[in-house]
Amino acid sequence: MAEIQLVNVRRRFTAPPSGGSPFARANQSFTGPVAALDGVTLTIPNGKTCAVIGPSGCGKSTLLRVIAGLDADYEGDVRYTGEDVRHLAPGDRNIGMVFQNYALYPHFHGENNLRFFFRVRKAPDAEAEERIRITAEIMGVGFNELLQHKPGILSGGQQQRLAIGRALVRSPQLFLFDEPLSNLDAKLRTQTRIEIKRLLNRFAITAVYVTHDQEEAMALGDQIAVMRAGRIEQVGNYADLRAAPANAFVAGFLGRFPMNLLERVDASGALRTLPATLPIPRDRPLIVGVWPEDLALNTGSSPGVHLAGIVDHLEVDYSRRIQYVRVRTDAGPLTVADAANLRLAEGERVTVELPGNRLFFFDAESEECVGRSA
Ligand code: ATP
Repeated sequence: MAEIQLVNVRRRFTAPPSGGSPFARANQSFTGPVAALDGVTLTIPNGKTCAVIGPSGCGKSTLLRVIAGLDADYEGDVRYTGEDVRHLAPGDRNIGMVFQNYALYPHFHGENNLRFFFRVRKAPDAEAEERIRITAEIMGVGFNELLQHKPGILSGGQQQRLAIGRALVRSPQLFLFDEPLSNLDAKLRTQTRIEIKRLLNRFAITAVYVTHDQEEAMALGDQIAVMRAGRIEQVGNYADLRAAPANAFVAGFLGRFPMNLLERVDASGALRTLPATLPIPRDRPLIVGVWPEDLALNTGSSPGVHLAGIVDHLEVDYSRRIQYVRVRTDAGPLTVADAANLRLAEGERVTVELPGNRLFFFDAESEECVGRSA
C-alpha cells in the first residue's frame, strides 16, 4: 500500500532515443530537446487508481517510468508514502508492472514466469508455492491451465492474464499499467478490463494506468490525469472533468465526440442575442464551448443562438440510439448528438441551436475556462 506523490518533476531529453532497430531509428524525427515532463505535481491516494490520458508523445510513459524508477534522470521528487525513492532500484520498490507487449519470459512455462521473482530473491519454495496458489485462486477459472504452457502458444488475452498474475504474485504495493490492453481485440479488451477492475477493487492497491482509451480510463480510474506536452492539465474523475473542464484543451480532448469549441461565434455578435442575465464574461474575446449532447437541431423554438449550417457527415451509434451529426456553420464545424430516428441526409440544410444556459466560455488567449452558463 502506498500513496504516490510527484512534486514538480521534470524530465528533459536532449538527444533522440537510442536503441531500437536501425529502421525505427531512421524513421525518428528528432526536432530538438524535449520536456517530456515539465513540472508534474500529482498525488495518487493510497489504494486509488489514477488513469493517465493525453495525446501521443505528451509524456505518459515517461511519467510511468519515472514512478517505477526505470528512469532516474529527473528533477523534482518522487515519493512513496512520504519517502523519497530516488535511491531505490525498480526491483526494490515492490511494484507490479504490466506492459502492452506482456514482457513474459518466452522460454519459461507460465508457472516459472511467476516463480522467477522468488528465485531471484532466493525465497523458500514453500513461499513461492503458496503465493502462486493464492494468485491462481484470485485470477480465477482457467488460470492454472495457463501456468502449464509457454507464452508462445497462448493467445494475446491469455498472455496478458499471465502477465497480470505475474505482477500480482509478488503482492505489490503499487501496480503500474502501460497500455496493457491495446494489443487485444475489442471483446477481450472488455473482458480483461473487467478482470483488472475486479482486482483493483478487491485489493485496493494503488495503481497508475496509462491508456489511449478513454473508456478504459473512465472505467478504471478513480481519478483521471489529462496530460499535454509534459504537463498535467487537470485531474479529477470523468464526471467532474466533463462538468468543469479547466481549459479548452481538456474540453476538446475528452470523449469520442469532445466539446465543440467555437472561436468565431463570439466575434460574430451572436452572443449578444442571449439574455443579458446570463453570466457571460463580456470583457474579453472568448472561445465558446458546448457539448454535442446539449445542441439541438431544427426545433425552431428553443431560446438561444441559432446557427444555419449544412450536414457534412453522419455517424450513427445504434447501441445508444444516437447519431452524431457534423454540421458546417459560419461559426465553425459543430458536432450534434441527436436522436437516431431523425431523418437526415448529408448535404441537407439545418439549424443548430446553442442553448444559452449550457455554454462554457474560455479565454481566447489563455484558453482557461472563465465562466459558464451551464
Ligand atoms: P505515446 O502515447 O505515443 O506512447 P507518451 O505520451 O507515452 O506517447 P512519451 O513516450 O513519454 O509519451 O514521450 C514523451 C516525449 O519524450 C516525446 O516527445 C518522446 O519523443 C520523448 N522521449 C521519450 N523517451 C525518450 C528517449 N529515451 N529519448 C529521447 N526522447 C524521448
